[in-house]
Amino acid sequence: MPNINEFLGAKPAKDSIKNLEKIMGSKPCSKCELDSEEYYWDPINFIMTWTCKTGHLNTVKVNL
Ligand SMILES: [Zn+2]
Repeated sequence: MPNINEFLGAKPAKDSIKNLEKIMGSKPCSKCELDSEEYYWDPINFIMTWTCKTGHLNTVKVNL
């Protein structure tokens, strides 16, 4: 039986992108006044990601 921690640590970035959930909802940009109308939820790493209309990438790690 493989070590579960080892398995999660070896996860390639491509896989976590595939697992992102697209959620409709307004999110404010931390760098400008423009909002994003949707965001992506990463249920494995607990990270919310969104890009505003200017193209700024916002990433928030949620501590549960
Ligand atoms: Zn912005």
